[in-house]
Amino acid sequence: MADPAETAAPDDVLAPHGPLPAGGRVRPITRWGTPVMHRAQQRVATYDEGLRSLVADMVATMYAADGVGLAACQVGVDLAVFVFDCPDASGRRTVGVVCNPVLTLPEGRDRRLDADDEGCLSFPGAFVECARPDHARVDGTGLDGEPVSFEGDGLLARCLQHETDHTLGTVFGDRLPTKLRKKLGKQHEKAAEDYPADWPAGVAEGAQAVGADQPVNPTA
Ligand SMILES: [Zn+2]
Repeated sequence: MADPAETAAPDDVLAPHGPLPAGGRVRPITRWGTPVMHRAQQRVATYDEGLRSLVADMVATMYAADGVGLAACQVGVDLAVFVFDCPDASGRRTVGVVCNPVLTLPEGRDRRLDADDEGCLSFPGAFVECARPDHARVDGTGLDGEPVSFEGDGLLARCLQHETDHTLGTVFGDRLPTKLRKKLGKQHEKAAEDYPADWPAGVAEGAQAVGADQPVNPTA
């Protein structure tokens, strides 16, 4: 998910199930309209080096794009896994990897909608408001197949919902009324020049040429 506020990153980062894998390479981000983004992803069944390497690439790609979350289908891979590094309502960041995510949202009197801006790295340069529950929990498995669970409010709640949606083949444009979807499309078209087809891979290569010692992933 794109970061609507370009949130400044505080130093203390919650990593309840361990840090994100480092050392990945930045890949081009797959756009809406590509078939892999619009169907439910295959479940992760094998927890091996291949999965770890894919996830490391997803982490590098998310940071290169200044995103707060990224799902495997956004690098063209049909697999139900996402990564995130996202602040909650208090500004505190949580990082994690979730395979085969299952979302739990508040119900009844606990269910309150939050209509903040939302954006997607697979439809870059555009943000519109999208109403979603203001708290979310996601359960799944980590890189070694161990159970993981994350929950939160603010942008983190939005991110957990947005990324789980990706693993089910839903993009947030699918959740918007026609008028807002058109507004989103216009913003995206206007910003098209800033996002060449290989974005953010080309940008990252340029950055590495300037300072090869600078890690793409600032927290790894
Ligand atoms: Zn997205």
